[in-house]
Amino acid sequence: MKAIAITPGSTTLNLVDRTEPSITAPDEVKVQVRRVGICGTDREEASGGRARAPEGHTDLVIGHEMFGQVVAVGPAVTRVKPGDFAVFTVRRGCGECVPCLMNRSDMCRTGNYHERGIWGLDGYQAEFVVDKEQYIVRVPPELEPLGVLTEPLSVAEKAIDEAIRVQAARLPDAGATPNWMFGRRCLVAGLGPIGLLAALAIGVAGPVLARDGNDDPATDEALADDGAAAGSDAMFESIARANRFPYPNA
Ligand SMILES: [Zn+2]
Ligand SMILES: [Zn+2]
Repeated sequence: MKAIAITPGSTTLNLVDRTEPSITAPDEVKVQVRRVGICGTDREEASGGRARAPEGHTDLVIGHEMFGQVVAVGPAVTRVKPGDFAVFTVRRGCGECVPCLMNRSDMCRTGNYHERGIWGLDGYQAEFVVDKEQYIVRVPPELEPLGVLTEPLSVAEKAIDEAIRVQAARLPDAGATPNWMFGRRCLVAGLGPIGLLAALAIGVAGPVLARDGNDDPATDEALADDGAAAGSDAMFESIARANRFPYPNA
């Protein structure tokens, strides 16, 4: 099958031939890839930035924002069946720390995780992929046109969840209700895909102020002023960076 691979640390990017993967364990799922998103991480990898090839290889199949259709399942699989739309998650835990053992590898404490398409495991810019049922998320047919946004939206949703938890820990009122965001004004700084998805997700709960920004710390103060001047109750400046700062080795 065809796949798109980079050579980490270089700008080499090739269409390559890979052996089509097949199911070799009862809990595995085989997916035909339909769409793959390209984000800032892919651009960074393809321009020689952070990426690692699988053990014993010199190149890495990129792609981590995927959407596909299940074509085969092992006999123990119950959560999806052939024909279902689905996405595979990206990170595979270290198997050592408590968060990873609790299936929260996004909070890995050792940094010894792998990530498909980024760090030590081939990604999803390929015709077919196989992985364990544990890492698959079924997508309802009515969300087929949007399914490829599942992974970046999960980044935004996590940032929102973390921000609310921080507020709940610090502000007595916030901890008093699960609907703390209801009717509140929020500032989303950074209008890349993650920021836009965050604005959409927060917009479901109330008004949003959005402003394009960048990673220059000098703009942080101006953004904070923006938020304060606009009477924002919550700031989501962290969203643009939320896929980086909580993790070690990032
Ligand atoms: Zn991405
Ligand atoms: Zn871990």
